[in-house]
Amino acid sequence: MSDVKSADVVIIGAGARGLSIALFLARAGVRVVLVERGALCSMASSGNGAQVNVTAKEPDHYTAMSLRSARMYPEFIDSLDEDIYLQQEGLLFVTTEPQEMEGFRQRVEIRNRIPGLNLRLLDGHEAREISPALSPEVIGGYICPEDGIVEVLKLLSAIGRAARRAGATILRQTEVTGIKVAAGRVQTVITNKGAIATPAVVNAAGVHTPHIGHMVGVSIPVYPEHGHMVITQPYPRLISIPTQYITQWPNGTFGIGTTNRNIGIVKHVCPSWLPPFLQQAVRILPALKNSNILRVFAHLRPMPPDRLPIYDTVPGTEGFYIAVGHSGITLAPLTGKIFADWIVNGKPDMDLGPYSLGRFASSTKEASEPV
Ligand SMILES: Cc1cc2nc3c(=O)[nH]c(=O)nc-3n(C[C@H](O)[C@H](O)[C@H](O)COP(=O)(O)OP(=O)(O)OC[C@H]3O[C@@H](n4cnc5c(N)ncnc54)[C@H](O)[C@@H]3O)c2cc1C
Repeated sequence: MSDVKSADVVIIGAGARGLSIALFLARAGVRVVLVERGALCSMASSGNGAQVNVTAKEPDHYTAMSLRSARMYPEFIDSLDEDIYLQQEGLLFVTTEPQEMEGFRQRVEIRNRIPGLNLRLLDGHEAREISPALSPEVIGGYICPEDGIVEVLKLLSAIGRAARRAGATILRQTEVTGIKVAAGRVQTVITNKGAIATPAVVNAAGVHTPHIGHMVGVSIPVYPEHGHMVITQPYPRLISIPTQYITQWPNGTFGIGTTNRNIGIVKHVCPSWLPPFLQQAVRILPALKNSNILRVFAHLRPMPPDRLPIYDTVPGTEGFYIAVGHSGITLAPLTGKIFADWIVNGKPDMDLGPYSLGRFASSTKEASEPV
């Protein structure tokens, strides 16, 4: 049994979101307990493309939100006091298809409406000036210097250590099995290792966010979007700027993604889904043709139906916060700040209207009584 009996805030789920929220809360002097049923980052946060990606986000408010988080990254990493690789010189998106160039042109025009964003449309020659290894078949693309990549596993374990140093308690192998609500507010989080009395709970359980929602009688529409990553053995430097979903890390390995399907909460690799995106990677970067694959893994993106985050509270269940969505790595620093401000000051420091639970017509209070 755990000897932790009470907390100011209990966070459920030690992925990128839960860890960052724990850190910001602990630094604000809040007595926070982060409860994780497995190891730290045992779900999506340990199996992703590691991009801090602004330009793939739409509509404008979501691009702006992602940009704000991306800009927090350098200072956020400095504050962790560990050596973590962060590259914010851009991601290169390219194409070999003439019909795709029009879409790129539009994307550049639309994104550049956001103050501070400066996407540059490229022809094939300009793209190869940035990445000489690109195929002659590449006819153009775009780059945005606000995009980048981060050494995600090191980042997240560093956030965990920093949160502990700041006073957070992190309970691993501890599964939340129920939440007691009385008089319209959260009272207790029940785990397989005992109960924790608390007035506030953050549901950051990724693809299991709906399951936690059911514990307080609220329906949260999130589905698991299965995605693969392929990791190669190390090779001499071929690209310095990640291109499409191909990243060469400083140690020389390539990370190549990805797929997007919903097959339920299962993380197994589906070998027959790999050839299309691997062939596309070779088409863009022919030197990858004979590269050796070291490992392949699949993880689950916690995905609301409109692909935007759900950052909200639940009317009638005071003290219950929801923090879920895609792009949790990009949004990690800002997510920590948003929820810490919200919990400590009573309101978030930005308009979260577009990320409300209420935008989904079917997300109503469930009829059954909370467990
Ligand atoms: C292939 C792929 C590529 C991706 N690429 C990128 C990218 O380049 N950039 C980017 O920003 N995002 C990317 N993502 C998305 C990103 O990984 C996720 O948005 C992010 O990791 C989600 O973090 P989270 O903290 O919300 O959830 P998770 O990391 O899923 O964490 C939730 C945690 O809750 C725990 N939990 C669940 N139920 C309970 C319970 N009952 N009790 C206690 N604990 C519980 C789980 O064990 C888990 O550790 C990618 C995802 C995939 C799959």
